[in-house]
Amino acid sequence: MSSVSRKRKLANEKRVFQVKWEVLYFVTEVNYTIQCIICQQMISVTKGYNGRRHYETMHRKKYDAYAGKIKEDKVIQLKSALCKQTIFFNFFYQC
Ligand SMILES: [Zn+2]
Repeated sequence: MSSVSRKRKLANEKRVFQVKWEVLYFVTEVNYTIQCIICQQMISVTKGYNGRRHYETMHRKKYDAYAGKIKEDKVIQLKSALCKQTIFFNFFYQC
């Protein structure tokens, strides 16, 4: 039996989108655009500010209750649901 150890590689790619926004504002990047992983709305420009504004306007009341590990888990859960759905729509996704 050989066990494959999966090492997490930190990508050195220069990206405008910052991964921390996923946990902060429940958004993800799709084709250089931000998408809300809660309501799946596309938020045009890749700026953290837009993601934050969307989150604070639309979802804060409900999702501010999540924090720390629970929030991270919620993000992963929402993201994977979105990925499955997006494959269906033929978007290019990095899940
Ligand atoms: Zn939303």
